[in-house]
Amino acid sequence: MGPGHPECPERLGAIEDRLLVTGVGDALDRREAPAASPSDIELAHARMHVASLRGLGEGLADQVAAGGGGYARIDPDTAMNAHTWNAAVRAAGAALAATDAVIAGELENAFCAVRPPGHHACRDHAMGFCFFNNVAIAARYALERHGLKRVAIVDFDVHHGNGTEDILSGDERVLMVSFFQHPLYPYSGEGAHAGNMVNLPVPAYTRGPAIRELIEQVWMPRLEAFKPEMIFISAGFDAHRDDDLGQLGLVESDYQWITSKIKEVARKHSSGRIVSSLEGGYNLDALGRSVEAHLRVLADL
Ligand SMILES: [Zn+2]
Repeated sequence: MGPGHPECPERLGAIEDRLLVTGVGDALDRREAPAASPSDIELAHARMHVASLRGLGEGLADQVAAGGGGYARIDPDTAMNAHTWNAAVRAAGAALAATDAVIAGELENAFCAVRPPGHHACRDHAMGFCFFNNVAIAARYALERHGLKRVAIVDFDVHHGNGTEDILSGDERVLMVSFFQHPLYPYSGEGAHAGNMVNLPVPAYTRGPAIRELIEQVWMPRLEAFKPEMIFISAGFDAHRDDDLGQLGLVESDYQWITSKIKEVARKHSSGRIVSSLEGGYNLDALGRSVEAHLRVLADL
């Protein structure tokens, strides 16, 4: 994204460091992310969007090869460089490989430590640090390529997953449940929406106990009634108290509790199948600790 940007490479380093010092990393089965194919990405995105990002990436690589700088600005917050295309297709590919492994029964669940994130990426445009909607692509892939009939998406990022809603709104094979700070970027998600979208806008300074109550009262009955065959998580950790991109007050124990509630539904209805993919989380210490809490529950540690 360029120097000084919160969506920085150090985010993944902070997660790795935390998994190393706590020993959690030793308990995990690690896999490299393959590249997603354009035809799989087009399960959730317009062909023109995929082609235009590919073209931009190739143009940037040519500029770098010719000794030039290499950033293309997508929106005021989002820039692309010569490596972004590769990173974006691998971020999507991670979610697809995880979906394959979980449906094949090789793994009960998986977490994808990826950048760039995905949940703001809309069907036909990139925005908000996101290029391809990793979770929406994987959800459609589970339905179309693996023949699942119902999948749920849980989004606990502090920002509204407008891209996921744009792509999957009205697709009755998908139930999406989320909470998000409102008003806050991208200033959407409140008001009328399709019946398969369970949007819970909450004001700044909402803390864990209030979020847990909303989850018990609103998410859980909908998830129970829907009986998803698999659950995808847009795992953003920027609702953490220490994260400056939002003003919510979650802490590590809240992420642990939310993950255990998701796991409860997955064990009951989905043969435990969960694929979680990293979205936001910009305070490096809080991100490392929160991912650790999330993984301890997923991996039964
Ligand atoms: Zn976010």
